[in-house]
Amino acid sequence: MLIDLTPDQLAIDANVHQLCAEFDDQYWTNCEQYKRFPQEYYQAMAKNGWLGITMPEDVGGAGLGVTEAAIMMHAATSSGGGYSAASAIHINLFGPHAIVVHGTAEQKKRWLEPLVAGEEKACFGVTEPDAGLDTTSISTFAEKTTGGYIVNGRKMWTSTGQVADRILLLTRTTRKEDCAKPTQGMTLFYTRLDRKKIEVKRIHKMGRNAVDSNAVFIDNLFVPDEDRIGEEGKGFNYLLDSLNPERILVGIEAIGVGRDALDRASRYARERVVFGRPIGQNQGVQHPLAEAWTYLESAYWMCLRAAYLYDNKKSCGAEANAAKFLSARAAFDACTKAVMAHGGMGYAQEFQVERLFRESILPRIAPVTEQLILSFIAERVLDLPKSY
Ligand SMILES: Cc1cc2nc3c(=O)[nH]c(=O)nc-3n(C[C@H](O)[C@H](O)[C@H](O)COP(=O)(O)OP(=O)(O)OC[C@H]3O[C@@H](n4cnc5c(N)ncnc54)[C@H](O)[C@@H]3O)c2cc1C
Repeated sequence: MLIDLTPDQLAIDANVHQLCAEFDDQYWTNCEQYKRFPQEYYQAMAKNGWLGITMPEDVGGAGLGVTEAAIMMHAATSSGGGYSAASAIHINLFGPHAIVVHGTAEQKKRWLEPLVAGEEKACFGVTEPDAGLDTTSISTFAEKTTGGYIVNGRKMWTSTGQVADRILLLTRTTRKEDCAKPTQGMTLFYTRLDRKKIEVKRIHKMGRNAVDSNAVFIDNLFVPDEDRIGEEGKGFNYLLDSLNPERILVGIEAIGVGRDALDRASRYARERVVFGRPIGQNQGVQHPLAEAWTYLESAYWMCLRAAYLYDNKKSCGAEANAAKFLSARAAFDACTKAVMAHGGMGYAQEFQVERLFRESILPRIAPVTEQLILSFIAERVLDLPKSY
């Protein structure tokens, strides 16, 4: 059993770190402070081919696995950009999965090529205000009409909605009460974000402010038939395919945030002298940081284990969920300890750890909360009764 990165994977890690080094703390501080999308970073990632790492080669992608995407995202988030660096490009890696698997050749060419080239941005419209985690209870409805559908409804938290050209949109085409199973009757579209018919209102939030999140109001949007992914009524199943990669990526992105915070804290603890010696010489300072390292390290390998299973077409639901759960907690713990190790300076923007700390709670909440992960593992692994 080999548990290590291959030379090719190490090269991905090194190349992405090198590219991200062009974007320093001041760059990310400004993006965060002015709530500005990191366009230059996004374009640099596109220009160097990273946006298409998991996309098929015939649309300009690299055709690599979730393992390579995870290594790339870990490098991106641990390089100072934190969760903003992740969320600016994250949807490119798993969002179009349904298109890759269920799209026609024409759709793949029309949609994936501009995404990979960085010419178009996508956003992901699944969550709704009145459904929450109970996704089958969404009410955004697509009514069939000649040549397409008329869509009305609301989405919540849609990230990158301010800058996106297109939206991956989950709708109902049959009401839940009229379906034999709750997961039936849902249809997935990928369509132009027509701002004449879709209002996108920014949500003011705790952190990761370089990447916007929004309340979205859809009012009589016409979506042509050619923008429907796969068959009508099967959209929920298409989305399920992408959930495990998403969890693995979110997990390893969190690890990157935690490791960056830990590096900064260790550096500060080596340099800051109080009572005539570096604060890091005190066990009360060094032990929490060492503990954070152990949690991050174990969660990192859990992510890569889940990625390995996914890439080798093995069942990975429990591992992907566990990886996301452990990583988010380890990152939050490391960022909290990093702030504490800085003392008062942990609260100052200058040392960056407050930004990482604010971001580090996000992977505990989205795209799925800790409670729902534990309920999944209780039911699917421990064979306990379904609780929701
Ligand atoms: C910054 C940010 C960006 C996001 N970006 C996107 C995006 O781009 N696209 C998108 O579609 N969504 C996005 N989301 C939404 C995110 O996926 C949801 O917030 C998340 O899935 C939780 O759903 P909710 O907020 O509706 O929580 P709710 O469903 O309202 O749940 C609230 C709380 O109750 C708990 N709970 C509910 N039911 C149960 C139960 N049966 N058992 C135990 N606990 C339960 C939950 O775990 C949670 O703690 C984003 C969210 C955030 C914060």
